[in-house]
Amino acid sequence: MNRALDLKDRYKVVIIGSGPAGLTAAIYAARANLEPIVFEGMEPGGQLTLTTLVENFPGFPDGVMGPELMDAMRKQAQRFGAKCVLAEVTSVDLSKRPFTVVAGEIVVKADTLIIASGASAKLLGLESERRLLGHGVSTCATCDGFFFKDKEVVVVGGGDSAMEEAIFLTKFARRVTVIHRRDRLRASKIMQERAFKNEKIDFIWNSVVEDILGDKERGVTGVKIRDVKTGEVREKQCQGVFIAIGHTPNTKLFEGQLEMDDMGYIITKGSTSETSVPGVFAAGDVQDRRYRQAITAAGSGCMAAMDAERFLEENHL
Ligand code: NAP
Repeated sequence: MNRALDLKDRYKVVIIGSGPAGLTAAIYAARANLEPIVFEGMEPGGQLTLTTLVENFPGFPDGVMGPELMDAMRKQAQRFGAKCVLAEVTSVDLSKRPFTVVAGEIVVKADTLIIASGASAKLLGLESERRLLGHGVSTCATCDGFFFKDKEVVVVGGGDSAMEEAIFLTKFARRVTVIHRRDRLRASKIMQERAFKNEKIDFIWNSVVEDILGDKERGVTGVKIRDVKTGEVREKQCQGVFIAIGHTPNTKLFEGQLEMDDMGYIITKGSTSETSVPGVFAAGDVQDRRYRQAITAAGSGCMAAMDAERFLEENHL
């Protein structure tokens, strides 16, 4: 299979993931003549391809569409010789160097590995939610809050993320309604207090969103809510729905091979991208439960490529 796709058997730098972290790592590694290979995964371009206008990525005074930005990053990496492969990595062996990376029928050896497989926002699992992502449904208030000036929005969830999103959204929205499936929040006391004190935020308790109403042309028009105690179903008008029920880092492949925290994020050392295995580096959301921004992911991708380059030099690879 490697031959058919014009792939080598061994690479100095193998990158898993093609979001801002993976592709920035690819740009840096390619410009250092390391001829990296990028396994793009199931969602080429990562989470930014699920959003529309990105207004906070520096360098784009009028904003840039998420998919367009990712396309430009990929082209930039390819221009310097990065090989992008539309395949999902299915297993890795990090027990000895060179590492082994398998993507279906493709098998390559890696002198260094950069993991940038990202995190996925958890979704409710509704058909309407997927369909309206980027059209009124969002998983990131920092990214999309600005589009809801003077609008009514709902936030789903009861943890710290939901409170943070709700509080942030009050800067723009006229009214923010938190819909939570229980009668008490999971969020820390301080975040709860802040949310309760905010006059623009109200709460609907013991309730789940059963459907999101609207279409791509008009955007979101409302939500269908079911009270889990009484079974009563009602509709609530709103123009935005923020799903804030947590994230899952995409680290299943590395379980038992790399040190991770209690939530499955890869642990990196100090202010580097080094993981618990020498020669394996991690960048972007897969190791960042705090900032999760395109620009911070890109920055850490750059760090990972520089760390990999130094590692190769030090080990005469
Ligand atoms: P989280 O603490 O796991 O909370 C997820 C919330 O979503 C919970 O309230 C949960 O309800 C609800 N939920 C989960 N699945 C759901 C579903 N299918 N339908 C409806 N509701 C659902 O996640 P998080 O808020 O993202 O926080 C993750 C970690 O990061 C936490 O340790 C948090 O403290 C930290 N964090 C801190 C800050 C801060 O301090 N500023 C900000 C963000 C995150 P239940 O309560 O019923 O389980």
